[in-house]
Amino acid sequence: TMQVFMPLNFLGFVYREMRSAMANIENLFNLMDQAPKVVDAPAAAELKVTNGEIVLRNLNFAYHPERPILREINVTIGAGQKVAVVGSSGAGKSTLMKLLLRFYDPTSGTIEIDGQHIHDVTQQSLRCAIAVVPQDTVLFNDTLYNNIHYGRPDAPDADVERAIDLAHLRDFISGLPKGPDTLVGERGLKLSGGEKQRVAIARAILKGSPILLFDEATSSLDSQSEQAILAAMRSLSANHTSVIIAHRLSTIVDADTILVLDKGELVEQGTHTQLLNQQGRYAELWRAQQREQA
Ligand code: ATP
Repeated sequence: TMQVFMPLNFLGFVYREMRSAMANIENLFNLMDQAPKVVDAPAAAELKVTNGEIVLRNLNFAYHPERPILREINVTIGAGQKVAVVGSSGAGKSTLMKLLLRFYDPTSGTIEIDGQHIHDVTQQSLRCAIAVVPQDTVLFNDTLYNNIHYGRPDAPDADVERAIDLAHLRDFISGLPKGPDTLVGERGLKLSGGEKQRVAIARAILKGSPILLFDEATSSLDSQSEQAILAAMRSLSANHTSVIIAHRLSTIVDADTILVLDKGELVEQGTHTQLLNQQGRYAELWRAQQREQA
């Protein structure tokens, strides 16, 4: 009987692992794409986020030793700051996010949150402290309301309603024939990219984590949808430390700090105005986008 029982038990384990991983990190990155699994340190403590300061020290990372991806990154992201990460395709923006979530360990260097090395805390507590708004959100075959509630399944209705308002989803939901009870997902109503991203924002608001990672959708949005997302992001990043991968520089002109990555190196950092005046890589990216829009 053991032979039959074990595999079933194992499958159940895998299934539960997958479910909890999904619940915690969404699908920012393909779960199957995860390289050697990182493990908790033997005496891993719970991460305690007091202020939400993130410090990267001499951070180096490579997926394969012969090809460095991030080199000597030194950054302090102050508590409550809104920080944008920009750079051309392949610069290492998503990789940086994966390291913050500890999907991989750095080759050398450290990441600290409020003075605690993320290497030394439980992954569960780390991923609880970080809410992720992915580029493309998976919607379950369930009602729109339940899809949002999923951000914190034990949240009272009042909190879900508040998240709907803050994520600027109220008008959209009111316009649906069945309102919040509308079925979404593969077998239900298809949401636009912008609507899906606002559902992800509502989930993140509900989750209430002190740190937020936001991966801006690359897909072009109409300006009304873009404005709704920006407003939703603003509600979410108020009082939170937020790190945003930005593709449209126009969306992050108000960031406290913009980090400019180029081929894995942090080449510039500053505010939009400071970086424009610097006439360097950021100014170049900005001008290129202005030309595209013209
Ligand atoms: P984009 O704006 O196109 O999303 P990015 O700045 O987010 O780009 P990353 O996704 O971090 O860039 O990729 C940085 C480099 O790392 C790229 O050259 C990419 O090919 C490589 N890379 C990314 N993921 C892996 C992986 N799982 N294994 C090996 N190499 C990878």
